[in-house]
Amino acid sequence: MPLSPESDHPLSVPGVVEPLPPRERVGHQLSGHLPCARCRYELRGLSIASNCPECGLPIGVTILAVVDPYAKELQPIARPLLTFAGLMLWASGAMAVAFLMWAMHLGSMVYSMFSITVIPSWWPPAICIATLLSGLGAAVLIRPHANIPRRQILAAAAATAAFLPLAWLHWDLFSNTANGLGFDYFSSRVDSERVAVRLLCGLLGVLITIGLRPNARVLVSRSLVLRTGRMDRQTMYALAAAFGVGVVGDAIQLASGGLRPVSMDVLRSIGVALSVLSAFLCTLGLVSIFVDTWRLRRAVLSEPLDLDQLIDPPKPEGSDEPRRA
Ligand SMILES: [Zn+2]
Repeated sequence: MPLSPESDHPLSVPGVVEPLPPRERVGHQLSGHLPCARCRYELRGLSIASNCPECGLPIGVTILAVVDPYAKELQPIARPLLTFAGLMLWASGAMAVAFLMWAMHLGSMVYSMFSITVIPSWWPPAICIATLLSGLGAAVLIRPHANIPRRQILAAAAATAAFLPLAWLHWDLFSNTANGLGFDYFSSRVDSERVAVRLLCGLLGVLITIGLRPNARVLVSRSLVLRTGRMDRQTMYALAAAFGVGVVGDAIQLASGGLRPVSMDVLRSIGVALSVLSAFLCTLGLVSIFVDTWRLRRAVLSEPLDLDQLIDPPKPEGSDEPRRA
């Protein structure tokens, strides 16, 4: 049975049963453009029950790999290129902010140990500009296509707007730091104002991530690869939780200010540990989102392929009116 969905072939899609051609279509020929999934040989005109004449891969395996069973349910994206560019700007801007912050921390450590200034003066404004660019890119998530629920549009719009105060807070944190951040990971006292600003940044991080998540998931759901479980990692909840850990850490540090010295030191150490953990987790989360966004490119840039487009005569333009899922 060449069309078995449980095929052990490395190119078959595990768990996808729906795109199997119905029995009455088994004798049909491929009328659409379909390169073999293994060797790219053009399979047009062959029976869907046969094998690739070049490499012997069952044509059913190629169909399983490329046909999206939900193609008709998915809304068309009006400006795919703009949408994908915005997503990449959003993800890479946020990742750039994280890396620049790490670089500033390292520069700060170098200064405190060797009194050598290694932080270029353009880094603090670069952090703010990268924050703003990330927010500009996030705007494509407000309404990526038609038929998005109103509350999801509002949530994504609020999250996008929250990048403005975030950029301003980042400027507040980093602008007066010619030689060091004054970040208190290695000092013995809490700079309350600084920690409070950082706490607000963390809160905005949580709100932005949660606000953008529903519409990001809408785009993720277009990807056959992601939907079939090969890539669903709940990256954005993990990122929101990572920001949350930092918020808790900063809150503990702020609270430790009013305590007796011994309990204060213990509490402050816990707070600092949580802040550092949060910084690591947030960086990991932002890198994961960058990777996931890049892997979405095919799902966003090209229309999902429907089985009818492959084995029936092409329909006239405009006949496949978008339906509400
Ligand atoms: Zn082949």
